[in-house]
Amino acid sequence: MSKQFAVIGLGRFGGSVAHTLSEMGYEVLAIDQDPQRVQDFSQVVTHAVEADSTDENALKALGIRNFDVVVVSIGEDIQASIMTTLILKELGVKKIVVKARNDLHGKVLYKIGADKVVYPERDMGVRVVHHLISPNILDYIQLADGYSIVEISAGDFFAGKTLQELDIRARYGCNVMAIKSRDGKINIAPAAEDVIHKGDVLVVIGRNDNLKQLEENA
Ligand code: ATP
Repeated sequence: MSKQFAVIGLGRFGGSVAHTLSEMGYEVLAIDQDPQRVQDFSQVVTHAVEADSTDENALKALGIRNFDVVVVSIGEDIQASIMTTLILKELGVKKIVVKARNDLHGKVLYKIGADKVVYPERDMGVRVVHHLISPNILDYIQLADGYSIVEISAGDFFAGKTLQELDIRARYGCNVMAIKSRDGKINIAPAAEDVIHKGDVLVVIGRNDNLKQLEENA
């Protein structure tokens, strides 16, 4: 059986998580204390229920323990976010993902047992800046401090050359993991003799400073 998700707090972030999971075909239990929010999601997810997540009995009655992943997306009321996380932990939920407002909130969440803390506003700000300063970079995933995977669009310099000719590994210390061509085909095991065309997207892993250099030359 596929994974079952519960989302607590149907604001912009929680709502988007619930919506996306549901679109991907997953069963989602959506919980909010605001009846209007619950109503709004009743057609979107498998079950939408009105409950206060700081009420342990209410969460128990919903069988929250049986869900594989519970996402807590309460931002404004930090106390409610912390109490909810604590209750989920005590009830034995396997994986708890919580949205935090700031570093301190995040630290507390980890201390009480959250498995993953996300900072959507902060992370999106960073992403937007990356796009602004590096127009060739289409998307990026930060792996660890100083290392990322990025999508780089091939410009004039890359066009018509093979990976061997570009010698990206030796020259820039980066590794090309995949090449997406403009017609949507993806090559997940690029070979040295594969030719790059203008507009192809290279998925590259490397150190941020090396990736930046590569992007500037793409
Ligand atoms: P956004 O994701 O829109 O930025 P936010 O961080 O501002 O949201 P809030 O507005 O605080 O988050 O809360 C998001 C949702 O969580 C709201 O719909 C609110 O009704 C719900 N919520 C807040 N506290 C509780 C609670 N104790 N139990 C259930 N739902 C709650």
